[in-house]
Amino acid sequence: MSELNRIITIANQKGGVGKTTTAINLATALAAIGEQVLIVDLDPQGNASTGLGIDRRDRKLSSFDLMMGSHTVTETVVSTAVPNLSIVPSTMDLLGLEMEIGQASDRAFRLKRALQSDGAKTYSYILLDCPPSFNLLTINAMAAAHSVLVPLQCEFFALEGLSQLLETVNQVKQTVNPALDIQGIVLTMFDIRNNLAQQVVNDVRTYLGDKVYHTLIPRNVRVSEAPSYGKPAILYDLKCAGSQAYLQLASEVIQRERRRKAA
Ligand code: ADP
Ligand code: MG
Repeated sequence: MSELNRIITIANQKGGVGKTTTAINLATALAAIGEQVLIVDLDPQGNASTGLGIDRRDRKLSSFDLMMGSHTVTETVVSTAVPNLSIVPSTMDLLGLEMEIGQASDRAFRLKRALQSDGAKTYSYILLDCPPSFNLLTINAMAAAHSVLVPLQCEFFALEGLSQLLETVNQVKQTVNPALDIQGIVLTMFDIRNNLAQQVVNDVRTYLGDKVYHTLIPRNVRVSEAPSYGKPAILYDLKCAGSQAYLQLASEVIQRERRRKAA
């Protein structure tokens, strides 16, 4: 099957592990090297939308309307301050999605259908920022995606959460998306002074081998400040260690894509 774009869902059922930060900064880094990038914000919290400076007034249409099938990507998309990066923002409406479409026979495939439109095909990368739960939104994301990118926080329960997630991916493969691939695992908020964090890195690498990116995203205060300015860290402070790590992650993602396409 020839692929016009690469749809990557950024998922982990745990909150606060760096999903949104990874979506925003990986997207920005890919856009900076000339890829046309779209983020679809699937979290009712709308952190990706806020972190990219999208005003509430510019969220009249949102990913909820995509899921309802009432509007297209072209109609719901908003451009960001980052050249080549657009977003379909989210609103709290998403909280009511399960009520609206939970009984529909195509409920798992709403996003997939929306991303098959011509408007979506103008993007070379589409990143789906998932909520911290395993619900209809996450299922839609996994059904629509080519692959899953998993941010994993370097902490004690990381591996436990990861095996749950991999189990979920297997369930998705057996049901809604047999072709779903693991794009990679990225270790986030790494603290070099914390011995436990190094142990987690070693364990995850032993367990998952080359699925784990070489890039370690450090815990970095500049990265956590950036969203309050409505900017990706890469725009807020390009030189900080966190931004540099996300640029390196983007180059790893691109290298893997080249290898995959050549295979
Ligand atoms: P999720 O989307 O998985 O819930 P977020 O990306 O929103 O996680 O990150 C959770 C919190 O941690 C946010 O306040 C974010 O700014 C902060 N954070 C994420 N990555 C880093 C990092 N590398 N260094 C410091 N703070 C970070
Ligand atoms: Mg988030």
